[in-house]
Amino acid sequence: MAEKYDLIILGGGCAGLSLARELALSKGKKLKVLLLESRKEYKNDRTWCFWEPPEKAKKGKQIQAHAGATHQWSMLRISSNLESIFFPCKNRPYQMLASDQFYQAALKTIYSSPQIEVELGAVVEDAVHHFQDHWEVKTSEGVFQSSFLVDTRPDSVNPNTTSILWQSFYGFEIECSDAIFDSSIADLMDFLPGSDRIAFIYFLPMSATRALVEFTVFAPSPLTATDLASYLESAVKERVGDTAFTILRSESACLPMGLDVPPRVADASYAKVGVMAGSARASTGYAFQRIQQWARLCAASLVQSGELINQPSDPWIVRKMDILFLKVLRSDPAKAPSLFLSLFKNVSPLIVIRFLSGEARALDYLSVMRSLPATPFIRELFRPLLPREKEVHQKVSL
Ligand SMILES: Cc1cc2nc3c(=O)[nH]c(=O)nc-3n(C[C@H](O)[C@H](O)[C@H](O)COP(=O)(O)OP(=O)(O)OC[C@H]3O[C@@H](n4cnc5c(N)ncnc54)[C@H](O)[C@@H]3O)c2cc1C
Repeated sequence: MAEKYDLIILGGGCAGLSLARELALSKGKKLKVLLLESRKEYKNDRTWCFWEPPEKAKKGKQIQAHAGATHQWSMLRISSNLESIFFPCKNRPYQMLASDQFYQAALKTIYSSPQIEVELGAVVEDAVHHFQDHWEVKTSEGVFQSSFLVDTRPDSVNPNTTSILWQSFYGFEIECSDAIFDSSIADLMDFLPGSDRIAFIYFLPMSATRALVEFTVFAPSPLTATDLASYLESAVKERVGDTAFTILRSESACLPMGLDVPPRVADASYAKVGVMAGSARASTGYAFQRIQQWARLCAASLVQSGELINQPSDPWIVRKMDILFLKVLRSDPAKAPSLFLSLFKNVSPLIVIRFLSGEARALDYLSVMRSLPATPFIRELFRPLLPREKEVHQKVSL
């Protein structure tokens, strides 16, 4: 007889752990929850960066996000081969959270709740089955049943997955033998020249000797770490010169920007969340804060009214602006450095941060629109009326 739960969460990464953690912290009705995760142990496999949430900034609290940010920057730089601008963000510092800290802190809270069980090393079989009043999940560790199911397993990228652009990146965390970095400034985007793709170095110095260096490409097709390896090596070389260094760890990803999100399953007892289910902001690929927001909403709703919540959709204006911006970038990648520089140069930092973090107010949209040159956007808006160009999604040449 399969064991029965109120809720089973498939996948214990950012979204799964965040929901379980919120449920562990929630007051009131305690649901019987099972979290199924295929990993046997957690490693420091990624770093999450985001701007400090406004409520913390306002109260002037110690900067803390879950397990505590590992580093933060009050000054960012955006550069192209033509110019370099500084982007001050003292009131909303750019924070870095190492994933191992997040995983361990979340697990500690979850384990403190006797109602929540975590099964590590449990690989969920692809298909899950819905019967009249329950879900059945088959795993390498047994069969489980629940009333509600939250699926956070990322779908693999396949030829049918369409996204306007893909953000592919590969990075090394390095430790240098000499103190060569200025850890007070991070390079958000240091664009490399090129006409058929958007490529930049993302450089986060955590101390005078340690930094995360990433080579990022926005392109119509996904790229692998192998595709990006030689460019990352050049980026590291450019930053460290002749100084000796050690690679402490690596991370890579391929995040959709403007994903054609599959239709939601019309079943109130099921929610699909995560990057491949629309949790990432289209124009940035940022997902961490959005997942936290969803986890808080979903846990509160489950406890208070017994209802599951999917990742909330962005407001109409945000979706339209993001899609238009991404289409302009895809049509004319060479313009990307000047477009991003215009945005960061001509709009006040707080508005840019609100816009990129999905907290924009009505007038913020206007400021963002006014900061950008009109012609490429008008051309893109009217593109459907122009004679159709053949769409070629060939692998980008780096
Ligand atoms: C290297 C990297 C850096 C990123 N940096 C940022 C950033 O700076 N800022 C930002 O906002 N976003 C960032 N993102 C995007 C996003 O925040 C992360 O991808 C985030 O981890 C997404 O959470 P998730 O729960 O959807 O997926 P994951 O965290 O990947 O969790 C999915 C979980 O499902 C498990 N799983 C998969 N298949 C099975 C199965 N069959 N059975 C059981 N378990 C299974 C996996 O092991 C995994 O633990 C980054 C992503 C990556 C990969």
